[in-house]
Amino acid sequence: MIDLHCHSTFSDGLHSPEDLLSLAINNGVRCLALTDHDTLDGLSDLHKAASAVADHPITIINGIELSVNWKKHLIHILGLNLRDPDKLSDLIQAQKSLRFERAQQIALKLESLDVDQAFDKVLEIVGHEGIGRPHFAQLLLNEGRVKDIQQAFKKYLGRGKPAYVPTKWIAMEEAIAGIHEAGGAAVIAHPLHYGLTKTALSEFIQAFKAGGGDGMEVVSGWMSGTQREELAAFCQRYDLLASSGSDFHGQGISRVDVGKQLPLPDHCTPIWQTWTI
Ligand code: AMP
Ligand code: MN
Ligand code: MN
Ligand code: MN
Repeated sequence: MIDLHCHSTFSDGLHSPEDLLSLAINNGVRCLALTDHDTLDGLSDLHKAASAVADHPITIINGIELSVNWKKHLIHILGLNLRDPDKLSDLIQAQKSLRFERAQQIALKLESLDVDQAFDKVLEIVGHEGIGRPHFAQLLLNEGRVKDIQQAFKKYLGRGKPAYVPTKWIAMEEAIAGIHEAGGAAVIAHPLHYGLTKTALSEFIQAFKAGGGDGMEVVSGWMSGTQREELAAFCQRYDLLASSGSDFHGQGISRVDVGKQLPLPDHCTPIWQTWTI
């Protein structure tokens, strides 16, 4: 069992790297990539915890989920198996500044919508500066402004909504180049989550391949068998390697538990095939 996409409290996950590791081991995961949004900060705790579990050998893969722009779209690119993660530090620093500035702007918008002290309150929720929209969703829930996290995105935080702040993240090509420099593989995260038409999705996958991209998630979080087949077909057509992850954010909020995503179809070439794990 392998899971190459999940989150911890170092981004918008509910569990610390240590707790994530326990959950993964309980679910029989043998190889786990932590892929927090625009940060590698959780990896050292995860490595430490994994090396302390002698009787459950589990391989930890250094990963990240980068927010990037392609055309007018916000896309997520995973960097997996980063053998030289320090090489990403400049790029990550730039992304973190963008994320922090965006959070300040989101907070201002919410304050103008009568959510008092939105910035201080969100900082309290997050506990670090890697503030994401799910943290603002939690704030809106705490303040009784929405009935659940979904509604917070629908009413306030989603694209075009009153507290949405468009952000100029790094370009897709920069993300791919940075990931390669860090010795990793660049992988399209959850290709069906961007609201792209079939034609636009084909165009995007081709641009990603032409930009040097390595793979795509054929399995990501909750999906139907039909969706998996559709992605497997894209993966084969554009000669990409296939990845698989739960996109687990936490028990109670994620539909798929860590390591419990569907298996890859047999006819796909797994991205981890050439890794020593
Ligand atoms: P950010 O990177 O700060 O823009 O936040 C993006 C994150 O928000 C994603 O990784 C998901 O965890 C979460 N998210 C995005 N859209 C929704 C939604 N409609 N409902 C719940 N969570 C969402
Ligand atoms: Mn997330
Ligand atoms: Mn994502
Ligand atoms: Mn994710």
